[in-house]
Amino acid sequence: MGAPYRGRFAPSPTGPLHAGSLVAALASWLDARRNGGTWLVRIEDVDTPRCVPGADRLILDQLARCGLHADEPPLWQSARSTMYRQALDRLIADGQAYPCACSRKDIEEALALQGRPRVRGREAPYPGTCRNGLHGRPARAWRLRVPDGIVRWQDRRLGPQQQDVASEVGDFVLLRADGLWAYQIAVVVDDAGQGITSVVRGEDLADNTARQLLLQRALGVPAPSYLHTPLVLGANGEKLSKQNGAHALDLSDALRTLNEAAAVLGLPPQAGTVADALTAWVRQWPFLQSAGD
Ligand code: GLU
Repeated sequence: MGAPYRGRFAPSPTGPLHAGSLVAALASWLDARRNGGTWLVRIEDVDTPRCVPGADRLILDQLARCGLHADEPPLWQSARSTMYRQALDRLIADGQAYPCACSRKDIEEALALQGRPRVRGREAPYPGTCRNGLHGRPARAWRLRVPDGIVRWQDRRLGPQQQDVASEVGDFVLLRADGLWAYQIAVVVDDAGQGITSVVRGEDLADNTARQLLLQRALGVPAPSYLHTPLVLGANGEKLSKQNGAHALDLSDALRTLNEAAAVLGLPPQAGTVADALTAWVRQWPFLQSAGD
C-alpha cells in the first residue's frame, strides 16, 4: 500500500484567482475527494516582487466561496526559508549544488560562443560555465548539478512524458542572484514536507515536472504522481493568465463560475447548490489514481 493520498493547490498570490487557476483548484480538490484523500492549500509567496499584498487572503476567500475548503491550515512559503536552506545545504554537502557567478548576459555570450543561439520565448539553457568553479568571480546564485540523461514520467492525463533536462534546461537555479528561493526548490521541499502524493495543476506547469523529479532524486524524497489539467484559453488563443488580462472571478454566482471551470475538465453542468454540484462532480471525476501512479 502506498502512502495515504495528500493533494494540494499551490497558488502564487500575484493576484486573485482567475478562470484558469480555478480549474486547477477545482481539479485538485475533486481528485483529493474522489481518492478519499486530504486536500491542502499552499500559498507560494517566495517570489516576493511578484506578490500582491492581500492576494493570499483574497484567494482563500474565493476558494471558500466555491466550497473548496482545505483540510489543514494553509502553509505560506515565506515562512519556510529554513527548510529550503537545509535542503540546499544538503545538496551542497553532497556536491549536487554549486555556486554560479554568471549574469544573464554571461550566459547568452557563452551559448553564442558554443554556437547555441538563443531560442526566442525560452529561457536560455545554462551552458555550465561555473560547473567546475568560479575562477575568482563572485558567487551570485546556486544551481543544481543536473545529471545527463532523459527524465521520463507518466502524467495521469497527458500520458508518457519526457525531457532531456541537461541539454534543454541545464543546471537550474535553486537560490537566485537576488537572494530569493527559486520555485523549483520551494515546491519540491514543500511537496515532500507536506507528504504530497498527488500533484494536480495546470498544464502550463507540466514542463517543470522533470526538473522537480531530478530535485526529488537529489534530495532522496519520494516523487508524487502528476496530473496536469487543461488550460483556459484567452480570446487571443493564448493561455489565460494574470499577464494577459484574466479578470478576477465573478463569484456573485459561484455555481455558474464553477460550472465553467468544470466544463474545461469535461464535467457536465450542475444545478442546485454549490455543495450538490461538487458532490456530483466527485462521483463523475474520471481520473482515478491507479496503484501504479
Ligand atoms: N505556484 C505555482 C503557480 O501558481 C503553482 C505551483 C504548482 O502547482 O506546482 O503557478
